[in-house]
Amino acid sequence: MSLALSEKAKCVKPSSTLAITAKAKALKAEGKDVVGFGAGEPDFNTPENVCNAAIDAIKSGFTKYTPASGTVELKEAISKKFKDFNGLDYGTDQIVISNGGKHSLTNIFTVLINPGDEVIVPSPFWLSYPEIVKLVGGVPVIVETTAEENFKLSADKLRNAITDKTKAVVINTPNNPTGMIYTEAELRALAEVVVEKDIYVVADEMYENLIYGGEKHVSIASFGKEIYDRTITCSGLSKSYAMTGWRMGYTGSSKEIAKMMGAVQSHQTSNPNSIAQKAALEALTGDQSSVEAMKVEFNRRREYMYERVCKMPYVSCIEPKGAFYVFINVSKVFGKSYKGEEVTDAFKMADILLNEFSTAVVPCADFGFADHIRLSYAISIESIEKGLDRIENFLKGLE
Ligand SMILES: *Cc1c(COP(=O)(O)O)cnc(C)c1O
Repeated sequence: MSLALSEKAKCVKPSSTLAITAKAKALKAEGKDVVGFGAGEPDFNTPENVCNAAIDAIKSGFTKYTPASGTVELKEAISKKFKDFNGLDYGTDQIVISNGGKHSLTNIFTVLINPGDEVIVPSPFWLSYPEIVKLVGGVPVIVETTAEENFKLSADKLRNAITDKTKAVVINTPNNPTGMIYTEAELRALAEVVVEKDIYVVADEMYENLIYGGEKHVSIASFGKEIYDRTITCSGLSKSYAMTGWRMGYTGSSKEIAKMMGAVQSHQTSNPNSIAQKAALEALTGDQSSVEAMKVEFNRRREYMYERVCKMPYVSCIEPKGAFYVFINVSKVFGKSYKGEEVTDAFKMADILLNEFSTAVVPCADFGFADHIRLSYAISIESIEKGLDRIENFLKGLE
């Protein structure tokens, strides 16, 4: 007998982005004029047509269990989206709908990983990948990329990281936190290694709709049968449709993997939320004009923010092409002092910005890059302007 708690659960770190957001919210509640660059979600409301579809679902009694891996009508809509937008053929028996993208990723790793299996995670990374991999008994293998590589994993680096324990590599494009997008040529080079070494790709394409300036989203699974068979493509409604709270994620995979994920899910959560499924159906098949309007606004903010950050002392960044983040190198700030207080690292910098300037930024140690911060532009342009003025004042005040 023992009261000891799970070793696996003990290894998991709480999400630091949520912690920063909570602290900023608490200051706001005290009446402080806080600018929160921490947001990991669109600031827009869910489009009205989507909300109305949910209300109709409730009123018409669509409030019971659905099939475990989602309704056929929503799978058909997702299948069509995969075909039209990604150039991918996934039948309805290859699609699993889950309670958010995170849940989809958890299902994927649950089905792929045996104890001790390695998953290659290029760094910088979205902070949940290593934690989810650990939770299902796998070992995250972090492979660092550089600014010269535009923070993208090269085929050579992938090849060198593969061992006989490697089960999968995570490719996240457009990327959180860097805002980078993999080109077709880069993905083809990675796909070649994946096929040669016989591992899986977990393709996290959550931000596939949020791409700016004529860039194009490419799905790695679209390059032919061999890579298609080895890829689980993951996306969702959270970021593209401003639906983070609704919890709608989905995957396209082989039938075998889809069937297993559906079985796992049937015991864990029964099914994705029935009302949210009706809302997702409307989001995918209804009027897309509000999505376009969000994109235009995100792009305006992106351009403004990038231009301003480029002019600031001590910091640098690469122009982001997708998602809604600017990833900023702040290493030259370290060792300087603000009002006699040394800025030792990005946590300290974030602390001073929050306490002295009421401005929340995300230090990126938990994203694998301790000398960077992430600013989200999923806030109003007025707030961005005010927050950037404050960051600039902080930087100019350094000695
Ligand atoms: C937000 C996000 C997800 C998952 O989002 P959900 O809210 O769980 O749908 C997955 N991957 C990345 C990179 C994200 O930023």
